[in-house]
Amino acid sequence: MNQLEKSDRLPIFYDTHAHLDYPEFAQELPTVIARAQAAGIAKIISIGTDLESSKRAIKLAEQFPNVFAVVGWHPSNAMEAPADFGAALRELARQPKVVALGETGLDYHRLPSANLNTKIQTSQTPPAPDARLQQEDERYKQKQAELFRQHLEVAAELRLNCVIHQRDSLEDTLAQLRPFAARVRGVFHCFANDAATMRQILGLGSLVSFTGILTFKNGQNIRDTLFATPLDQFMLETDCPYLAPVPYRGKRCEPAYVKEISQVAAQVKGCSFEELSRATCATAEKFFQRL
Ligand SMILES: [Zn+2]
Ligand SMILES: [Zn+2]
Repeated sequence: MNQLEKSDRLPIFYDTHAHLDYPEFAQELPTVIARAQAAGIAKIISIGTDLESSKRAIKLAEQFPNVFAVVGWHPSNAMEAPADFGAALRELARQPKVVALGETGLDYHRLPSANLNTKIQTSQTPPAPDARLQQEDERYKQKQAELFRQHLEVAAELRLNCVIHQRDSLEDTLAQLRPFAARVRGVFHCFANDAATMRQILGLGSLVSFTGILTFKNGQNIRDTLFATPLDQFMLETDCPYLAPVPYRGKRCEPAYVKEISQVAAQVKGCSFEELSRATCATAEKFFQRL
């Protein structure tokens, strides 16, 4: 292309984490994807959260040229996962538009004991003994760890990277990733930790990515983390249908809103859209094979 065409073009961004297969989009997916393209969001990665969701992500990637798939089983759904998800994962990963595995990782935000405690309070039944609750939590954590390990093993085997979901489980997540770090890179998506944690993650050869939380009034700590993150070590994502950026906060999120996220990100990094576009797209292309 010539110089004029190049400068006329919108700076391009990617939505590296979307859940296009969720029912929130079922009625108008072609419109949602067209709106993203019109906003300069040139590629969208749809993330699987269990077997069926991963299959749907692959279908969408086959249907829309600018959609790609990540296949995996979310830690919050771990109890419904089969004992061995590895074989199915290997099979899914064979599809040409699968660019990574996930989302996988650990999530201790809502442990079974928290749910039981709520039930106990509302139903007024006598509290179960602490030991039993602890056992339930342990079983849940073990199942998540087992599932995460299967993703890491298949990723190492197939030379793919992992989209990592971590909530209230940072130490355990890093401990599990560490032995694989030479072979598998992770992106800690929806990153909401501090700069010291970001540096630990980069130290393992992994990356972080930022959502619309960057634009929230109370998101200053995350803007501080982004400020400290090198320009070539992070990506942008919506995590839609969740986490719509300002001015859409509280509404259904969609990939077009990477634009609003990129505006705040460029401000925080003190760089132009073109620089941010070049850096984040290059990072995504290096991280997600076949993107
Ligand atoms: Zn997640
Ligand atoms: Zn997600």
